[in-house]
Amino acid sequence: MKYIDYKDLKKISKICFGTLALSNLQNNEDFVNKVNVLNYAYENGINFYDTAELYDNYDIIGSFLKNKKRDSLYIATKSYAYNKETAKYSIEKALNELNTDYIDIFMLHEQDNGNNFLGHYEAVEEFMKYKEKGIIKKFGISTHTIQAVTDSIKFNEIDVVFTIVNSTGIGINDGTNLQMIEAVEKAKSNGKFIMAMKPYGGGHLLSDTKIAFNFVNKIEAVDTIAIGMKSKAEIDTNICYLENKEVSNDIKSQVKNINRKLNIAYWCIGCGKCVEKCKQQALSLIDGKCCVNMEKCVLCSYCASECDSFCIKIV
Ligand code: SF4
Ligand code: SF4
Repeated sequence: MKYIDYKDLKKISKICFGTLALSNLQNNEDFVNKVNVLNYAYENGINFYDTAELYDNYDIIGSFLKNKKRDSLYIATKSYAYNKETAKYSIEKALNELNTDYIDIFMLHEQDNGNNFLGHYEAVEEFMKYKEKGIIKKFGISTHTIQAVTDSIKFNEIDVVFTIVNSTGIGINDGTNLQMIEAVEKAKSNGKFIMAMKPYGGGHLLSDTKIAFNFVNKIEAVDTIAIGMKSKAEIDTNICYLENKEVSNDIKSQVKNINRKLNIAYWCIGCGKCVEKCKQQALSLIDGKCCVNMEKCVLCSYCASECDSFCIKIV
């Protein structure tokens, strides 16, 4: 494993475990199996875990944390808090359900640009109070836009920028992969810690994951690569890529052909809330029912949380 230092956060693993893949939004495995997958990652040197209030999986991570030395790993999470009360709620919920006294990185989820950030500024001020008390170690944003990465430079409050970086640019809402890399490099040179998400394009780049991984891994400005993983074989594969080792045929056979897709249940009432939420324009209403264009979907699960009828699931 390769490790990175960021200011007073020392030895953060280059691979960050993206736990959306273990949430009930995307994974039907039982609780114990999910905790075991996290334990396997930890035993193999991955010490950085990303979650979110949206993923509704704090219980899994809380259970995983129980028998660990807290300072042997890093937890990042995020929420849509927009004022003092929602910021407080997000922090208290994360602390209680994750069984921890502090959060290493807390982020505002899905920020589009600087104005969006300013719109959440009451929450940001509250988060800064938690940071002063040491309850949040670093603060940041997650985003799918180049604009937000560029605008992050204007805000000293933002330590961490978590954005989409992949070889084709799929999932980036406002430009190309090269424009994103340029923005990331500028943010990095302005002192931001860069977390890259979706190196496999939300499932679109699975035909050659090694090439897709290496593309992101070679970008010097990227500090850590967040990868959604569901199995020990996927963990082994990504570690092999990082360490430039051959992946055994046995491991290859366990991970190949696991293509995920977004399912919309037949009881969809066609309210359109999910369609509005999807910035990839992957959803549309046809004959009063929601339909997905998998060519555009990056499996982010944002739409699933909008559906009051629980129709959307990634399988
Ligand atoms: S359809 Fe849903 S999961 Fe797919 S990109 Fe849109 S919001 Fe994300
Ligand atoms: S939010 Fe749910 S019910 Fe509404 S259109 Fe989307 S899938 Fe259908």
